[in-house]
Amino acid sequence: MTHLTLQAVTRRFSDAYAVDHVDLSVPDGKLVCFLGPSGCGKTTLLRMIAGLETPTSGSIDFAGRDITHLPANQRDFGMVFQSLALFPHMTVAGNIAYPLRLRKLDKAAQTRRVNELLELIQLPHMANRPVTQLSGGQRQRVAIARAIASSPKLLLLDEPLSALDAKLREAMQVEIRLLQQRLGLTTIMVTHDQREAMTMADEIVVMEKGRIAQVGKPLDIYRDPVNEFVADFIGLGNILPVTYDGQGGVSLPGGQQIVVTQPARVPESTADIRLLIRPEDVCVSVAAASKDNAGPNRLIGKVTFIRDVGASLEATIDCSGFTLTAATTPRETPGLALGMPVLAELPPHACKLIAARAAGH
Ligand code: ATP
Repeated sequence: MTHLTLQAVTRRFSDAYAVDHVDLSVPDGKLVCFLGPSGCGKTTLLRMIAGLETPTSGSIDFAGRDITHLPANQRDFGMVFQSLALFPHMTVAGNIAYPLRLRKLDKAAQTRRVNELLELIQLPHMANRPVTQLSGGQRQRVAIARAIASSPKLLLLDEPLSALDAKLREAMQVEIRLLQQRLGLTTIMVTHDQREAMTMADEIVVMEKGRIAQVGKPLDIYRDPVNEFVADFIGLGNILPVTYDGQGGVSLPGGQQIVVTQPARVPESTADIRLLIRPEDVCVSVAAASKDNAGPNRLIGKVTFIRDVGASLEATIDCSGFTLTAATTPRETPGLALGMPVLAELPPHACKLIAARAAGH
């Protein structure tokens, strides 16, 4: 069931479009991430869903009702923003109880609900501690507990983890995701971190300049991006300029032929085409690095940089005219060293043709 539907939602500030004709359906119980670079309109879109900003045009429906102009405090949505805005003079329990007090829930019901939430966020022993004496991650959990205290129909999160260090941030991503799944709570989260979106989302909405560039499941977007902007934004990728004859014939800047099994999205124009291949799909071989082995999809190059982080290894390969990044492991590619000639194979099924980013982007 679709819970939230946006139709041609637009927000203009003077004559600049922060959000430009966005159509979107958010299914019940799912976690959807708005992902995109700074200034692409993620926060403005979330604020319109929250009721904190009014669309210039378009409509927002929630559970079958037009809420476009409904005041924020009548929407029954929970919100957590970047600046958590916990009340510093209150305890953990006091913060969580705040929305319940506003709703004039009786004292016993408030205590029951606060205890339930403290269990849920695994801080039952900290009920009476001032929030100023909590770690960043604990504060984050309290903010989420407060946002969901009055059982909102929709949870809106705007970069809720951006103030945390990398390790804690990753732990909290898993925690929020598990909590959201357990509660079956429809959630929209804004982030500019593609790894975070990949970790947490059922669906990712990639935004560019106020518009939706692509919507889909994380791996579908990773594997089958609609264009160079999305391919570049989601994960590491080799994006190579190629010449395309319109009938499947693809050649690299050095003239090497590339066979593409199933160009998932053959762009209409043959003028500005890129070849996308993800680093983990590039197969590197030291032993086979002989000119005799070169051919379609088989390139000879030289290793110019190695990033070895123990569990994985990333090699930059100069193929005369362009560079490739290959992800491998020391076990898969033993003996790989700087300056070494290698054979890089680009399996036809892993090569995608995509439309180049428009000039000026
Ligand atoms: P970030 O990741 O940096 O927070 P964002 O994707 O959330 O960016 P928004 O904050 O939605 O982007 O801003 C989208 C565009 O709208 C930007 O160009 C911004 O400058 C502009 N904008 C946002 N709010 C206002 C405002 N109140 N008045 C004028 N322009 C605004």
